[in-house]
Amino acid sequence: MDDQALRTVSFHFRFKFLAITTIAFLLYVILSSSSEFDQFASSMQFKLMGPYFICAGILYFVFRKFPVKCPYCHKTMPTKKDWHCPDCDKTQGKDRFLMEKCIHCKQILATSVCDHCKQEFRL
Ligand SMILES: [Zn+2]
Ligand SMILES: [Zn+2]
Repeated sequence: MDDQALRTVSFHFRFKFLAITTIAFLLYVILSSSSEFDQFASSMQFKLMGPYFICAGILYFVFRKFPVKCPYCHKTMPTKKDWHCPDCDKTQGKDRFLMEKCIHCKQILATSVCDHCKQEFRL
């Protein structure tokens, strides 16, 4: 496969990482919770849930905006632009985040092309 040879910027990995840590945290809260709700509501885990989800929400927006670095020329690129979809061969028509689905064919972008060196890389 040609795709395997492409270098990756681990863009989608950011969100997978965030999702996995959130699930792990929820599992921890559920598994360590007391059967009595009164006790559970005053526990440390319960008090941490609010701040945790606020942090996860902030991280999500930071991750989405944080520029990616081209693995070939090491220049940074914005994550929001009028990107070209390789699946339906259309551009988005407006600035959209790389993590969003294609406006036309609803495919998630797997690869992108560097604005500077025109090399293709995996997201
Ligand atoms: Zn480049
Ligand atoms: Zn498309």
